[in-house]
Amino acid sequence: MSDCVFCKIAAGEIPAAIVKRDGRFVAFRDINPQAPTHLLVIPTHHVASLNQSKDAALLGELLAFARDLAQETGIGERGYRVVFNTNPDGGQTVFHLHLHLLGGRPMTWPPG
Ligand code: AMP
Ligand code: ZN
Repeated sequence: MSDCVFCKIAAGEIPAAIVKRDGRFVAFRDINPQAPTHLLVIPTHHVASLNQSKDAALLGELLAFARDLAQETGIGERGYRVVFNTNPDGGQTVFHLHLHLLGGRPMTWPPG
């Protein structure tokens, strides 16, 4: 989508601190980090939210990509949190499907 900030990051049209990419996904640092490690993982093609994602295989690959990224960034063993904020009550502000990978400190529960 032409007006989507995450599509532009995936296309290299606006800068981001990209940490990993393959043909399907891009991972980059959240501009407003909520933990010492706070990465966003997105599919390179536009999907607005989890509600619009009809490709279960892609969702599984996205999770596996995030799991591997957690290991590669050194937070895998101590632990981490994966979040999909979805729609307004879920706290979603950017409507391109993304997974938050948070780690580097103990997380609390329940979330706010
Ligand atoms: P959500 O609230 O789940 O939609 O998350 C959107 C996230 O994207 C927020 O944590 C923002 O800090 C982050 N964000 C927005 N714009 C950018 C950007 N240009 N580069 C990196 N992260 C961004
Ligand atoms: Zn997009």
